[in-house]
Formats: sequence, C-alpha cells, structure tokens
Amino acid sequence: KGAAFDVVVIGAGAAGLMCAIEAGKRGRRVLVVDHAKAAGEKIRISGGGRCNFTNLNAAPKNFLSDNPHFCISALSRYQPKDFIALVERHGIAWHEKTLGQLFCDGSARQIVDMLLAEMQAVGAELRLQTAVVSVAKTDEGFAVETSGGTIMCRSLVVASGGLSIPKMGATGLGHDIARQFGLPIVATRPGLVPLTLAPDLLERLQPLAGVSVDASVKSGKTRFDEAMLFTHRGLSGPAILQISSYWREGGTIEIAMAPGADLCETLRRARTERGRQSLGTLLAEHLPRRLALLVAESHGADRRMADFSDKALHAVDAAVNHWEVRPAGPEGYRTAEVTLGGVDTRALDSKTMEAKAVPGLHFIGEVVDVTGWLGGYNFQWAWASGWCAGQAV
Ligand code: FAD
Repeated sequence: KGAAFDVVVIGAGAAGLMCAIEAGKRGRRVLVVDHAKAAGEKIRISGGGRCNFTNLNAAPKNFLSDNPHFCISALSRYQPKDFIALVERHGIAWHEKTLGQLFCDGSARQIVDMLLAEMQAVGAELRLQTAVVSVAKTDEGFAVETSGGTIMCRSLVVASGGLSIPKMGATGLGHDIARQFGLPIVATRPGLVPLTLAPDLLERLQPLAGVSVDASVKSGKTRFDEAMLFTHRGLSGPAILQISSYWREGGTIEIAMAPGADLCETLRRARTERGRQSLGTLLAEHLPRRLALLVAESHGADRRMADFSDKALHAVDAAVNHWEVRPAGPEGYRTAEVTLGGVDTRALDSKTMEAKAVPGLHFIGEVVDVTGWLGGYNFQWAWASGWCAGQAV
C-alpha cells in the first residue's frame, strides 16, 4: 500500500489541476496522477499554442448537454473574471482575439506553469507517467491501482478527459469508472470536428481546397457566423467545427457563403445594369474568386448576366446562400477538439460534481456530459467544474 491521501485526482489536465489547487488551499493532502510525461498537454497545444483560456461571454447557452441546466451552478460560482484574476496575478499578458475569446500574448506554456506553481504553493503532489489501471471502493474511500502501486484516498476525482486526440493520451478510463459504479453515460461522439463529404461531391469541390469564406452555417435552429474552410477531405474552419457539435449523422446543414448580401436582388439588378458582365465576374465581388468561378461554372460561366432568367438567378442564389449539404460524417476523434456526451450529469450533484450514489467520487471537466462551443468555453468548464469539486473534496 502506498501513502494515504485525502484526495486523488486522476488526470493532470485543466480540470484536474484546478481541482488540486483548490483542494490544496483547503488543507487537503492531494495527489494528481497522470500517465502522460507532462502535465497539461492539451493546454500546451491549445489555441494554436496561445491557449484560448476562457471566453468573456461564457454562459450556459454556450454548452451542449443532455441536461442543459446542470452547468449553471458551476459556471456562476467560478466565472471568467475569476480565471482572468488568476492569470493577472501571475503577470501573464493576454488579449481578446474575437467574440470574447481570450488568449495569452505569449504562450500556452504560461498557463501550465501558472497552474503547476499554484499546485506547488499549496503542497499538492504530482505523479506523472503513472497510469491508473483500476479503482475500487474501500471502507474509508477508494483504492487506486496505478502502474506505480496502489494509492489509498478518501475522495477520488476523475478528471481524465474525453476521447479526443488519442495520440495525446486520451482514454476512456473515466467512462469505465462511471460504468463500474453504475452511473449512466450519455453516448459519446466527436465534437468541434471537421466534416467529411461524399466522394462525388468532394471531387467536384477539389479545386476549392484551401479556400476560406465568411459563412453562416445552420443545423436546425442553431446558426454560427464564422469562417468556413474547404479542405481535401471536406469542410472545416470555425463555423463548421461549431456546427459539427449540433449536426447528427444523416442530417443536413445549410450554408450561406455570401450571408451579408441579398444575392437574388443583387443578381437581378446586375442583369439590368451590367447585362454584358459574366456571372463569374459578378460573383467574384461577393465570394473568393475560386469559389465564384466554380459556382458560375455549374450555372453557365460564359453566359452574360442579361441572358439569365429569374429562375436561373434563383438557382444561383440557392447554390450560394442556401447550400444544403449532407456531410458524410465527422472526421473522428483523431482531429476532434472535444468529446460530446460522457458521464450523465443527472447522476451528479451540480454544486460538488459528486456522484449522488457514490459519496466521495467526483467527475469534472470533459469526461462529464457538458461540452462547450469553440472559443475558450471548454476550458472555462474545466476550470469551473474543477473549482467546484475542489471546494467539496
Ligand atoms: P484533459 O485536459 O484532456 O486532461 C485529462 C488528463 O487525463 C490527460 O492529461 C490524460 O493524460 C490523463 N489521463 C487519461 N487517461 C488516463 C489514465 N488511464 N491514467 C492516467 N491519466 C490519464 N478548449 C478551450 O477552451 N480553448 C482552446 O483553445 C482549446 N484548444 C484545443 C485545441 C486542441 C487541439 C484540442 C484537442 C482541444 C482544445 N480545447 C480547447 C479543448 C480543451 O483542451 C479540453 O476541453 C480540456 O483540455 C479538457 O480538460 P480536462 O482536464 O477535462 O481533460
């Protein structure tokens, strides 16, 4: 038997580190175990190396969950301003990039270093390259079997993350632990992920690989106005990553590629005022050139505007601003930024993240069925849920 701890946290990611810091502040003897070589690896690579560490506008509506009210409590108890205060105490410079998204001026490494310094200050211990093999309930709490021996603790916090980017050490351990204790799991699927297209459509769109356009992308009632990127495999870019979390297998998404313009009206006016111009030339005023030419090609690239009927102009407008696409699928966990689904929040206490049926067992961060939009929301959930568990263990 190894030494006894008040709290063992499985996973030295965003949620686990925050929980360890808060529990340590309360005088708990805390151990964080992780099988990775370094702590906070996803933080380090996040936000293109600058870590989009929170979002000023983070609110429950920015999160997907089978039980949408669950996240309200944690998000209100630990807010973006609380994390910003922590960042500023450590002298880390930051800026708002767009849409309330906050990034480090320097490097994501600074956020990892900040969390490790905070942990050290409260005497929380970190054991890396220590894989958790299994956990068991004991009279006093839990026995955690690791590659480095068995560790006894009173409270066990599962912060082992989702299934995204297996190459970086993601495992289904957290879901397995939940199942072992009889907690329900909301089916998991990749989120914030590029969408692939069927081979025939992909072939037609090949010339567009690399083209980016400001789009408005809809799935059902949900809409995102952000950039969209054509790739060799399908569609990507922020607007697509966002909608991918809402899109369901077999469903369609509707894309407007010149969303600001009343294209039908513009085309009609051009027919009378600039009748000699070609459709491609005209469309290039509203779309990236390669995209304009491809759309024009399938509607008569060489025809002059004057030769288009109302019906034909409607068809052009439909192709540009009401493009209905049925994606073939999500690219998968290999490239997904997050995992949707996870431990069913109905089995957890929203204030403490503790399993209602298993006193002392907590789940925080991405392993839980709360998933944020792109833009710093997922870290805010990790900080908030980790902070809440840290007050309770
Ligand atoms: P993680 O950070 O994934 O930590 C889980 C830890 O558990 C890992 O260290 C893992 O090694 C460990 N672990 C797993 N299994 C075991 C085991 N069996 N034994 C021991 N340890 C184990 N979100 C944002 O808000 N802003 C961003 O800018 C952003 N950028 C991202 C960029 C990329 C490329 C990716 C993939 C994600 C990004 N995200 C971003 C999402 C964000 O990284 C996650 O939502 C967040 O890291 C989840 O935190 P977590 O602590 O729950 O899990």
